[in-house]
Amino acid sequence: MKSPRLYLERRATRALTPTGGFLSNFAYSLNPYVGCAFGDGGGCPFCYVRALPVAQALAGPWGTWVIAKVNLPELLGAELKALEAADRLRHATVFMSSATDPYQGYERVLKLAGGALEQFTRRPPRRLVLQTRSPLVERDIDMLRALGERLIVSLTLETDDEGVRRALTPTSPSVARRLLTARRLREAGLFVQLAIAPMMPNNPERFAMLAADAADRVIVDTYAGDGTGGQRSRKLGMEDIYRRKLGHGGALSAGAERPLIAAMKARLGAYRVLLGKDGFNTV
Ligand code: SF4
Repeated sequence: MKSPRLYLERRATRALTPTGGFLSNFAYSLNPYVGCAFGDGGGCPFCYVRALPVAQALAGPWGTWVIAKVNLPELLGAELKALEAADRLRHATVFMSSATDPYQGYERVLKLAGGALEQFTRRPPRRLVLQTRSPLVERDIDMLRALGERLIVSLTLETDDEGVRRALTPTSPSVARRLLTARRLREAGLFVQLAIAPMMPNNPERFAMLAADAADRVIVDTYAGDGTGGQRSRKLGMEDIYRRKLGHGGALSAGAERPLIAAMKARLGAYRVLLGKDGFNTV
């Protein structure tokens, strides 16, 4: 049964957060929300953000509450202006979002990710990577186009298997819907990457065929890409969850990603297939 969600609006003190670690080639991350509605009912069981301090912002399990940073666009506007004045904007790289999904349901009403994009169109950084699993991103297609080559849209799609998607991430958009979004963004002239992260059980040849026209490139990442070499995922009990929901531990064992990488390289060409942390940092 789904837990009731608590939505709160709060004023933040900053928009851009200096980053590093897994996102080593990014200067800043940007999170319009704290908490994630896609986590509702345990929707993304692998979500390691639930084990980070940010997940303690409110009581209650991850996925049952969301805090919106209601003043984020105005804060971002001022911070971009300051970066520009210091001649640092043209080198800046921003990842939106690292600890939530910027286009979760609350965004329909509050348009904080949209407001942030508007600020970026006025003062674009060298590179903006916009990561989401949500078709709602299509709403902002005009602003995305205005960012042109400075933008990479990174659509999360962990599997091509709708049965696996439904079993493991039931509150996420379907495989078909996300692929449709990818194709629409690409047709609009945007650079689209599919973030297969973390890779879930899949049909390598079919996945590669679907990715070939939906994305400019793919990033294949495993549970080792949780920032701790897989420890966080083990602590979250991913093996048990797989056994319970799928009846097997496939995609968790070492080397399970090799067939998909081989199929992707054969279909897309090796230069369009990136791996793990290095892939995410190819900006
Ligand atoms: S969409 Fe991303 S941030 Fe949200 S619960 Fe899933 S993995 Fe976590």
